[in-house]
Amino acid sequence: MAKKTLIIGAGGVGNVVAFKCAMNSDTFGDITLASRTVSKCESIAKNVLEKTGVSLATMSVDADSVTELVEVITRVNADIVINVALPYQDLTIMDACTKCGVDYLDTANYEHPDTAKFEYKEQWARNTQFKEANIMGLLGSGFDPGVTNVFCAYAQKHYFDEIHTIDILDCNAGDHGYPFATNFNPEINLREVSAKGRYWEQGEWIETEPMAIKQVWDYPEVGAKDSYLLYHEEMESLVKHIKGLKRIRFFMTFGESYLTHMKCLENVGMLGIKEVEYKGQKIVPMEFLATLLPDPASLGPRTKGKTNIGIFAKGMKDGVEKTVYIYQVSDHEKCYQEVMSQGVSYTTGVPAMIGAKLILEGKWQGKGVFNMEEFNPDPFMEELMVQGLPWNIMELGADESRRVD
Ligand code: NDP
Repeated sequence: MAKKTLIIGAGGVGNVVAFKCAMNSDTFGDITLASRTVSKCESIAKNVLEKTGVSLATMSVDADSVTELVEVITRVNADIVINVALPYQDLTIMDACTKCGVDYLDTANYEHPDTAKFEYKEQWARNTQFKEANIMGLLGSGFDPGVTNVFCAYAQKHYFDEIHTIDILDCNAGDHGYPFATNFNPEINLREVSAKGRYWEQGEWIETEPMAIKQVWDYPEVGAKDSYLLYHEEMESLVKHIKGLKRIRFFMTFGESYLTHMKCLENVGMLGIKEVEYKGQKIVPMEFLATLLPDPASLGPRTKGKTNIGIFAKGMKDGVEKTVYIYQVSDHEKCYQEVMSQGVSYTTGVPAMIGAKLILEGKWQGKGVFNMEEFNPDPFMEELMVQGLPWNIMELGADESRRVD
C-alpha cells in the first residue's frame, strides 16, 4: 500500500521538501503539505503539480497545538511527519507523533521562543517516550546539522581509526542583491549569529564573544572567505559520537555588509527578543524586524553564486596522521531552476527528504530519538549523489590545511 507522508511547514525549506518528495513519489506515496497559512501550501502544491505532475494535498495546522496536530496526523493517516516548520514547534510535533505512533524527522533543534538558546536536551529527553511508542525520531536532517554529521560518520567509518579535530566549514557565497537579508527564517538566523560563539576542546566548551574568532579558509569553487567561529548545534551530538575527538569548531562565512548591518541592528536593540511597548502595543523587536526583511523564499529568483559546506577532519589511520576534507558545492541558480528555491533552502530540504526516504525504506531504522551520525552513513551519501547534492573528498597531507591567513 502507498505510504502517506505529512510535511509540516510551507516556507523556503518546506517548498524544497515538497518538490523532492514529489520527485520521489514511489517512496513517499500520498503527500500532504500542512502549515499555518494554507495559501502558502496551495501555492507550493500548484508549482509542484506544474513541474512534476504530482498532486499534493494541503491543509492548515497550528503546529503549536498538540491537539490540532494529532487531528491532522490522524486524518492524513501519516507514516512519517517531516517537520520543517520552526524550531519552536519541535516539541509539540514530537509529542503529537508519540500520541499517534508515527515516525518523526526535523532539521533544527528545539528553541524556546523566549530564550535565544538551542540544545538537544528536551528532544533527547523524549527518547523513552519514542521507544515506548515504538517509533523513530531523526533529529537534524538538514545540511548543518544533517549532512555535516553524516560526513563526520563517513570519515570515521572509511578514513580514520580516530578523528582528533573537526572544523565544520559553512560558506554561502550567494549574492541576492539586497544590502541585508537572511537566507533562512530571519528570526532563527539572527538569533544564531548574534549569540556567543562556543567550541569544544579536551572535553570542555569554551565560550567566545560573538564573532570574536575570524579565520580565512579557501573554499573549493568559491575562493578564500572570512569565516567566523559560531556555536552550532551538530557539535553537541558529535562530541558524544565521534571516537577520539579532541576539538570541534564551526565556522561560517559572512560578508562585511551583513556584519555591519547586524552590528548596527544589535546596537539599537532591534535584535531583542523581549517585548517592548510601542504606542500602547506590545511588540518583540526581532519579530518586527523579521516582518521588514525580505522573505527568504523570495530570494530564490535573484540569488547567484555558490554554497560550499563541509568538514575538515584530522586524525589517525593505521598509526599515520592524515587530513580529510569532505564538502559539497551547490549553485543557487541551478537550485532555483530545479525547485524554485535558493541554495540554502535547497541544501536543507534535500537532506530532509533523504532522511525520510531512508526511514520509509527501512534503511535507517531504530526506536527512540537519534542524531544523524548514529546511522550507517553509506546509503545517505549515495542518495546525496543522486538527489542533487553531489559531494567531494580531498585527502591532504597531515600538515596541509585549507586555511590561508
Ligand atoms: P520559513 O520561515 O521560511 O518557514 C517556516 C514555515 O513554518 C512557514 O511556512 C510558517 O508558516 C510555518 N510555521 C511557523 N509556525 C507555525 C505554526 N505554529 N504552525 C504551523 N506552521 C508554522 O523557514 P525556513 O523554511 O527557512 O526554515 C524551516 C526550518 O528549517 C527551520 O526550523 C530552520 O531552522 C530549519 N533550517 C535548517 C537548516 C539546516 O541546515 N539544518 C538550514 C536552514 C533552515 P507561515 O508562513 O504561516 O508563517
